Amino acid sequence: MDNEQITAWLRENNRTELDKLWIRADSVRKENVGDDVYLRGLLEFSNVCSRRCIYCGISADVKDCRRYSMTEDEILQSAQFAADSGYGTVVLQSGENKKLNTQMLADVITKIKAKTSLAITLSVGEWPCDIYKLWKQAGADRFLLRFETSDDKLYSKLHPDCKIGVAERYEKLEMLRDLGYEVGSGVMIGVPSQSFESLADDIIKIRELNLHMIGTGPYVPHWKTRLTENLADFLLDTENQVPANEEMAYKVMALIRILCPKINLPATTALATLNFEQGYENGLKRGCNVVMPNITPVKYRKLYNLYFGKACKKADDFEIEIKQRIKNIGRTIGAGRGDSLKFTEEVAGKV
Ligand code: SAH
Repeated sequence: MDNEQITAWLRENNRTELDKLWIRADSVRKENVGDDVYLRGLLEFSNVCSRRCIYCGISADVKDCRRYSMTEDEILQSAQFAADSGYGTVVLQSGENKKLNTQMLADVITKIKAKTSLAITLSVGEWPCDIYKLWKQAGADRFLLRFETSDDKLYSKLHPDCKIGVAERYEKLEMLRDLGYEVGSGVMIGVPSQSFESLADDIIKIRELNLHMIGTGPYVPHWKTRLTENLADFLLDTENQVPANEEMAYKVMALIRILCPKINLPATTALATLNFEQGYENGLKRGCNVVMPNITPVKYRKLYNLYFGKACKKADDFEIEIKQRIKNIGRTIGAGRGDSLKFTEEVAGKV
């Protein structure tokens, strides 16, 4: 599919045509990665951030955001909870805190690996190669770093503290791959200034990058960010601006599954925020094969406030509920780590 064809899908509103897209994505998913849904415990271990991304509610620019960092013991306890809940992976996510004790994080990684059989995914932003290497050697398996948009001008506006533009993200993704990480990236859908053609370029870039996993979700505003304060300067006219809605997110996920059949594709938290009741299920029926339940302790969860309305209440026994919801749509819970098929095939090809 080229930019024109992808753009046509993104602009498609005919229900019958869209049903065809959902069915195609679902069958590509089933043929390639099967019915298993893998669960990842998402632990937001700190909201301290040195970066100034203008869309993000925990950016250093958001002055009245109360900051927290979980202690080593708290992180270990949460990881144990993920293991006890039968999740194969814990995702350690945080702001990009330049004062982070990088050795402490390495020690935590080693301890989690010693105590559990969890795979560990990091989502902690941009770091020099030697730090990525330190964490890999400590036992980290995977890394998530979205490139957010492939439009270089927009990337620079969204990240006023970036050095050269989106190329620096691609460089980090390459670095992570070379270090042996299973690598994930993705974009925000419907961020102000994003045109249909630009989003189609993002999808093409996602395929080109040969990623192992792809995390994309709708942009959701946060009132106190610079982007929201200057919204009128960013929004394109309604003909051209990609809407940040649920259906657009499903279109993007379905197209990604069709173009990258063997990747892991989560139905993300932002999607579940737009549709609390059925967001996960709809994503899973339209190409996704991963769900990332939030396991951050509730007292911190409400402070990891990336955007407005982010699901912060802890449903009682969500661990049990989500498994039932997955079974209700005829899917099975994946056992084990749930490595990306794209990654395992690549590794097998190398030996
Ligand atoms: N500091 C890490 C983790 C950031 S949070 C990093 O920079 O990689 C993870 C993701 O949340 C980001 O990559 C971004 O795509 C998403 N995010 C941030 N603000 C958002 C918003 N307002 N709406 C939707 N997604 C958002």
